[in-house]
Amino acid sequence: MRTTWISLATLALVTSTPIMAEPAPPPKPKLIVAIAVDQLSSDLFNEYRSSFTGGLKRLAQGVVFPSGYQGHAATETCPGHSTILTGSRPSRTGVIANDWMDPKLERKDRSGKPTYDVYCAEAPGPVGSAASPIKVSAGFLKVPTLGDRMKAASNATKVVSVSGKDRAAVMMGGHKADLTLWWDGKAFATYQGREGDIPTAVAGVNAKAQSMIDKPSAIKVPAQCESRNRALALTDKLSVGTLKPRAAKDATKWRATPEFDAVALDVALAAQSALRLGKNDGTDLLAVSFSGPDYVGHTYGTAGVEQCVQIAALDATLDRLFKALDASKIPYVVVLTADHGGHDAPERNDVQALPAAQRVDVKLIAATVGADVAKQLGLEGNALIGRAAAGDIYLSAKVPADKRKAALDLTASIYRAHPQIEAVFTKEEIAATPSPTRPVDDWSLIERARASFDPERSGDLQVMLKRYVTPIPSSALGYIATHGSPWDYDRRVPILFWWRGIAGFEQPNGVETVDIMPTLASLTGLTVPQFEIDGRCLDLVAGAQTNCP
Ligand code: ZN
Repeated sequence: MRTTWISLATLALVTSTPIMAEPAPPPKPKLIVAIAVDQLSSDLFNEYRSSFTGGLKRLAQGVVFPSGYQGHAATETCPGHSTILTGSRPSRTGVIANDWMDPKLERKDRSGKPTYDVYCAEAPGPVGSAASPIKVSAGFLKVPTLGDRMKAASNATKVVSVSGKDRAAVMMGGHKADLTLWWDGKAFATYQGREGDIPTAVAGVNAKAQSMIDKPSAIKVPAQCESRNRALALTDKLSVGTLKPRAAKDATKWRATPEFDAVALDVALAAQSALRLGKNDGTDLLAVSFSGPDYVGHTYGTAGVEQCVQIAALDATLDRLFKALDASKIPYVVVLTADHGGHDAPERNDVQALPAAQRVDVKLIAATVGADVAKQLGLEGNALIGRAAAGDIYLSAKVPADKRKAALDLTASIYRAHPQIEAVFTKEEIAATPSPTRPVDDWSLIERARASFDPERSGDLQVMLKRYVTPIPSSALGYIATHGSPWDYDRRVPILFWWRGIAGFEQPNGVETVDIMPTLASLTGLTVPQFEIDGRCLDLVAGAQTNCP
């Protein structure tokens, strides 16, 4: 009797519990959609999360890693995009910065001045004059992307990469993409000599973009952004924080509006349709990087009404993307992340409870430090090249061999003595540091530098500013706020996965953007040897099953 009574009670319990399907990996997708949002920090994602109603709401109901990391020190656009679909940190992709320097290669820049700059997405070789503008290329990317690997595994796979920036489109598309499109200042363009690949429908979107730019535009403040709508005076003449109308034909400011991201989506959808992505025999890949939030962050700061409006519009733009894919009945998997985070302008931080925020001292600019070093050591010319105040610092090739050690030591000691400097590492110190294997949120500063290090491309010194020091000396120079530091406000980004039927969960501990590629590879059945990458497959199935090999 007793046994029966227990059995009945157990049965009652079981039958009153709703029957949930066991979480499972998705059926093999026909389309992978990899989205980067330029400068979408974890801080921004968390700030606006409760206000999402569109595409970002859908993604926030999938598998959410609110603390994804671009773990490396040089948190810039090109390195950040290079990690997302390669599974590799910049130390392996070779893309250590947007621009690095080659002290032996003096060229003329577009204004005719001598420069040692090498742009991450240019073709290696002599370039850079007004007569011969840079030739966009993936030549500096040392590893294959997911799209390159998928195409090597299947002739049927098509890969498209679209962005408001050439470096973002190139680093996500990789070496063998069928179509790589970026905004070149006037239109969405592609590699020199491959213009014939651009579908006709993209020309239509370009014409629409031009007509948007030609008209002045004014944006209405939505209710959820009204609390942020207040002016912040930066100088006597300049203020941000209230939406000002954009003048007709101002193509530069247009990039910092919701229209820019909406047009990038139109281009992506036109390309998806023209190349029949999701309807071919294999699994296809569509990579899209939305650049608008980055231009907004740099131009107006991160915490004003401008970014609130931009993120709300992005939520709607992503909703439009997912609804278009839903309507096409293509089984797709989405991931969204960012190339780096961002930090607000010090003037706003100062009035919003962070008075420690400040702008970098102009005395730290390499040209100034290098002039001091040359004077003290009796050297001709400047001991350092470039105008950076932090990050990779390069000794001039003109410093004679017997003076190089003294010049480097003196440079390091000048930087170290300054109150805005947190750390200075030499190239040898960084090279001798093993690639980090600890959880990414625990990496030391030199480990962050190691993840950004390439023996041929990195500087002689790595100079790190203290937390909260913005490396732009004045708010009157154009951009008022930025990223690029080894601090978590620039390293932490959301990583969100979604597919129809996903059993969502949240994992708050740190993971890396280099984990995205092996995770997506697992969903398409692609094998990626672990020794070729830095990331690991993330198990997105909240149960006994797994997507990982
Ligand atoms: Zn960026």
